Amino acid sequence: MSRKPLVAGNWKMNLLRADAENFCRRLGAGDIRGVEVVIFPPYPLLDTVARGLGVSTAETAETGATLFDAGADSGEAGSVAAWGAQDLHPADSGAHTGDVSGHHLVDAGCQWVLCGHSERRQDHGESDDLVAQKVAAAGRHGLTPVLCLGETADERRYGKTFEVLDRQLASARAALPEGFVLAYEPIWAIGTGDTASPVQAQEAHAFLRQGLADRFGPVIADTTRILYGGSAKPANAGELFAQPDLDGFLVGGASLDPKPFLAIIGACA
Ligand code: PEP
Repeated sequence: MSRKPLVAGNWKMNLLRADAENFCRRLGAGDIRGVEVVIFPPYPLLDTVARGLGVSTAETAETGATLFDAGADSGEAGSVAAWGAQDLHPADSGAHTGDVSGHHLVDAGCQWVLCGHSERRQDHGESDDLVAQKVAAAGRHGLTPVLCLGETADERRYGKTFEVLDRQLASARAALPEGFVLAYEPIWAIGTGDTASPVQAQEAHAFLRQGLADRFGPVIADTTRILYGGSAKPANAGELFAQPDLDGFLVGGASLDPKPFLAIIGACA
């Protein structure tokens, strides 16, 4: 079963407008053939990224995606670069100061949204139940959620990794819309420079794929992409991507500069 590689960049609370313009210019000049690429900028940069990737948000709302020319001679319709948000509120509108709904994201041309990133779970106390509500909101608005799952260092130390992954997947299970993506992000590897070894990553990804098979059946298990996130960089992307159940990356730090980000994309091409 072939799953198209996906590399996503999570800018977190970094970069300003000029950086985003420069990033998009350089990404557009790079080779992303064969890989689906998604950028998750901070909310105020969504429009800058939309424009930088070559299509205004109004056009995108109509056409659905931004296409770089890069795929033209590869026999593909084009190499798709899209953008999404790092979070959304479970409600569609209302008195929620500082929050953003799926309506806003669709209006900004987003097709994707991160749900349950560990920094949201930790900094904002997001429970599994709230994450499931956010996944449901994404589905209602036609956004593809990237559901982030992963264990802390202590949970790994005490042999609880699979238990945590199973609980997080089970909790969101009923809310996951067609085409959803999982991101295995061991918390101890995020932004620390410590990366899961290829064996550790494959073990967790295989566990998640089996969890998908048990809950959704073999077709969904075979076609769902499971990304790895946690200090992914050009130096480790190749050996991680070689693992059979690893379909790409959710990249934090190394997505802030187009050079390493394009190198990670290249490792998945
Ligand atoms: C992330 O924030 O999703 C992430 C994986 O960060 P980093 O690559 O910096 O570890």
